[in-house]
Amino acid sequence: MRCSQCQQADTKVIESRDVADGEAVRRRRVCTNCQYRFTTYERVERPQLAVIKNNGTRELFSREKLLAGLYRACEKTPVTSLQLDKLVADIEHELYACGDPEVSSQKIGSMVMERLAQLNEVAYVRFASVYRRFTNIAGFEKELSHIRQRNKI
Ligand SMILES: [Zn+2]
Repeated sequence: MRCSQCQQADTKVIESRDVADGEAVRRRRVCTNCQYRFTTYERVERPQLAVIKNNGTRELFSREKLLAGLYRACEKTPVTSLQLDKLVADIEHELYACGDPEVSSQKIGSMVMERLAQLNEVAYVRFASVYRRFTNIAGFEKELSHIRQRNKI
């Protein structure tokens, strides 16, 4: 793996660990030339999954895009990137287990919200506000009481 800083080809793995329930390996690497440290992930290659968006168009499922949305929702919350990695891996696992080559963005959104509700209330509400496009405070409050009730169980 080439160093992304100095482009030298020789880098050394200093730490490897299973993440996302063993679905991926995370490696910390150090460049033997400039000592730059970076992280790589290794995961099983899967067939492409199409996401049907609300307006009916299709796009390829992108874990990076999903993660980016989650990072935004979890900004300044105690949710860690490892937790988000696991959340996305869980969802991917479930999606691929269905064997369906297409899935609606709505379904993915619900799957995310279900899991996010258990991780962090603020992140959940932020994600929900983008995803469900609440138009008023009442919608927000309804959603909040819904999740509070569920977390009590
Ligand atoms: Zn380097």
